[in-house]
Amino acid sequence: MTSSGERKILHLDLDAFYPSVEVLDNPELAGKPVIVGGIGPRGVVASASYEARLLRVHSALPTAVARRRCPDGIFLRPRFERYRELSRRIFALYRTWSEKVEPLSMDEAYVDVTHRPDPGPAIAARIREDVHERTGLTVSAGVSHNKFLAKLASDFDKPDGLTVIGEGEARSFLAPLPARRLWGVGPATAARLEAAGLRTIGDVARADVEHLRQVVGNAAIRLGAYAVGEDDREVSPPGRPRSISAETTFDQDIRNWASAAPHVRKFVTRIVAQLEKHDLWARTVVLKIRYGDFRTITRSLTPDKAVRGTEDILALARALAQRAERPPSAGIRLIGLAVQNLVSEMQADVTSGDGDDDSQLQLF
Ligand SMILES: [Mg+2]
Repeated sequence: MTSSGERKILHLDLDAFYPSVEVLDNPELAGKPVIVGGIGPRGVVASASYEARLLRVHSALPTAVARRRCPDGIFLRPRFERYRELSRRIFALYRTWSEKVEPLSMDEAYVDVTHRPDPGPAIAARIREDVHERTGLTVSAGVSHNKFLAKLASDFDKPDGLTVIGEGEARSFLAPLPARRLWGVGPATAARLEAAGLRTIGDVARADVEHLRQVVGNAAIRLGAYAVGEDDREVSPPGRPRSISAETTFDQDIRNWASAAPHVRKFVTRIVAQLEKHDLWARTVVLKIRYGDFRTITRSLTPDKAVRGTEDILALARALAQRAERPPSAGIRLIGLAVQNLVSEMQADVTSGDGDDDSQLQLF
């Protein structure tokens, strides 16, 4: 978070990615309508160059129709291996700016650069330059304080564009756009909104929430928020856990910490194995206790040094247990341990802390 609490989210979208790669690998195609997709009689267009788009050829169009609209088009079968290779290189470049990179497809990703001191637009400009320099491809960027707005922005000035939507501009930017541009609104929902007289995002923003609920059901709250430019979804990298936890319910409620100790050690072993597997470090350790009367408490600690070692995590678990209540007469029914705020080693702050266990009673 910046001091204002505003996030800095980029949405990066490679321009006409498949055809652009084809042009890159065969410069003679530059400036021509290049159409990548199924080329057989039942083929469908996967992606078309901007030259072809001017002739109304777009993705999902049957190739047969595309051939009629664009008789001089260059029709090519996709070479997914090649696209994947470039996509991997480009996303690796994004990851040098932030570990919070969330790919949406081979050619689109969100990047959260909130932690960086530079303004979002400056970072987006640098990334666009880098991508072009290293691969010859152009990428359009949208910059804003959330995912929904960043994605809308990247589309605003394609190809090779950079669009910023500032916090104060969101509503006026959104208002005239058709309601189908709201995140998560497909053709069916768009038709229902339209039938209810809600044609633009501005209409949705002004709609009474009960009215909206009659039209789109439970999605009303979410759509209402998007319509005024609010979206608190996180940029979340794939395949990376947000937290790792282990817990056990005892056959019989336990009455003292000593009985919990072997379980907690086992939890720590399992958690450490997962942290190592994903090459992550934990900033926060959470202890959960459910008492015999089903009251559940959690206690958490966030030391200034991210941890991954068995002894470090055990020490934190001990400290947490000391902050919990003594086991009441009802005993303890369940005990669990979790690590959260997982970070990569690069990001782990190793500035302070002696890390030594203090001389407190060893509970586990
Ligand atoms: Mg794209």
